[in-house]
Amino acid sequence: MPSSKTCGCEKYKWLEDQRYQTILQSTRTIAYEYNPQTNKELVSPFIGKYIAGNYDGRLLSHVMLEDNVIHPDDLQLSLAYREKVALGTATHMTLRLRTPEGPYHWFKMSLCPYHDEDSFYYLGTITDIDTEIRHQEALRYHAEYDLATGIYNKATFYTATGNWMCSKPNIHRCLISFDIDRFKIINETLSLSEGDNVLRYIAGLLRDMTDPGETYARNNSDIFFVCLARPREEAVAFVRKLEQRLNQYPLDFQFVLSAGIVDLPRYNGEPVNILCDWAAMAQHTVKGSYINNHAFYENSMSDALNKEHYITKNMNMALKEQQFQIFLQPKYDMRTRTIVGAEALSRWIHPTDGIISPGEFIPLFERNGFILRLDEYIWELACQTLRRWLDEGLSLVPISVNVSRMHLHDSDLCNKLISLVKKYDLPPHCLDLEITESAYIDNPNMLYGIMDKLQEAGFLFSMDDFGSGYSSLNALKDIPVDVVKIDLNFLRKARRGTEIGRNILKGTIKMIQDIHLSVIAEGVETQDQAEFLLDVGCIHAQGYYYAKPMPVSDFEKLLC
Ligand code: C2E
Ligand code: CA
Ligand code: CA
Repeated sequence: MPSSKTCGCEKYKWLEDQRYQTILQSTRTIAYEYNPQTNKELVSPFIGKYIAGNYDGRLLSHVMLEDNVIHPDDLQLSLAYREKVALGTATHMTLRLRTPEGPYHWFKMSLCPYHDEDSFYYLGTITDIDTEIRHQEALRYHAEYDLATGIYNKATFYTATGNWMCSKPNIHRCLISFDIDRFKIINETLSLSEGDNVLRYIAGLLRDMTDPGETYARNNSDIFFVCLARPREEAVAFVRKLEQRLNQYPLDFQFVLSAGIVDLPRYNGEPVNILCDWAAMAQHTVKGSYINNHAFYENSMSDALNKEHYITKNMNMALKEQQFQIFLQPKYDMRTRTIVGAEALSRWIHPTDGIISPGEFIPLFERNGFILRLDEYIWELACQTLRRWLDEGLSLVPISVNVSRMHLHDSDLCNKLISLVKKYDLPPHCLDLEITESAYIDNPNMLYGIMDKLQEAGFLFSMDDFGSGYSSLNALKDIPVDVVKIDLNFLRKARRGTEIGRNILKGTIKMIQDIHLSVIAEGVETQDQAEFLLDVGCIHAQGYYYAKPMPVSDFEKLLC
């Protein structure tokens, strides 16, 4: 057993005691005593087992300094500790000390003054808390950092950026949220680990391109946040540069960033998470755009989001309270100006806000899935209307309903439609199904399977919005559709009524007819358009020139 360096007092014997050894082993604690009157110290003889240094009778503090036991970064701390000790108060510190094996370990050193009947001295302990500290560090790292990239996570970004903004509110800053367009492709076609490499590369670029104090983090997936102490133009330059440098990454992939920027000439106290939401809103406005890779946040973007929240909150109740109704827009035979059909278009008749157009809620419902319930409700209203016309002896014209592409994933779609017409005892061709052009191109196999079943049951299909740019005329001949709806709006946008536009329209109509499909033009707004269409052999039309969508009762008056 090692022998202790004693002060010559019996009372110090406890440091060699067998019982103390047991405590030492289980707590990894070295004990020592220091007598300031004699300037002598008694240290547990086991110290050399845990801490580097030659314990040859010099005071502990001397050994630690002279034998370079203290980690250089903790020297300052240990000097402050010594000053506190000199004041005679209890104190402690956590610092790194070299172990006999070489590596530094974290230790906690504590010292407290002690009086007995004949003297005053200090009792000290040195405990190896390396495992605990490293464990805590790991926990902290998990909580504060993004493990894939080693940079801040969202929560730490909020705190760090918030602190920075509060402490220096007058700096002109820009807060950016950005991601990579089609990043999914890298994960799916290469590998998840290649995706992770790209994310790490971006983290490295952010580290490299930001100045001290500026903050950055990975939010989630491929979305990053950066807060720069720079004005708008420099923030835009930063995004451009980042995209440029990202494209130096050795991968055969064109990296395109989408960035939303919040311009903050000074900090007004908004929580950082809200600023990040704003940046994300602006970011979404450029997602997938080839023209622009960044947008600045504007207040109107929040208004749109608030409106969406409001709609989402109220949609279920609105459906239950029958606030959704159909308006019918007539389809005409232009030769005779007679009505040959109608399209059912949904309207939200809001008790306080009035009539809300589908443009305000359909895109949102397509994102949140509510479109499935709304469409089925609209189909039911259309069937009820048709049934009433039959019962009341009104002339019966088919009603077209819109079938959102989301329904194509519903394995029960065919049954639902077949049972619906059965329920109202209607011939299925009275309910014309309009499906938008892009769905025919994106999901042909799934769609054709559904069409096959429903056409066999007697339903007709229209390809809605033909001309919006997805399909070619050549593809049309292989698509088992009954009617093609050409939307003049798309052509108008592209050619604005030029001679070329007219020729394209003429050629398109001719080719549709050549492959024996019916054609109807929608968005007909002028007499000139109507005459031209008739000239080129298109006899059916729907558009404001003839009639706008209207309540069912108004439509019925037109039918009589
Ligand atoms: P859509 O199916 O292409 O319907 C035609 C849209 O064009 C309607 O707008 C109609 O009011 C409008 N329109 C008709 N004639 C003219 C015209 O001459 N000029 C112009 N500029 N526009 C004309 P609405 O009612 O606002 O509907 C917009 C879109 O919302 C519809 O486009 C359709 O995609 C969707 N939608 C409406 N109701 C429903 C529904 O119940 N279910 C689904 N899935 N989608 C619906
Ligand atoms: Ca339609
Ligand atoms: Ca359309």
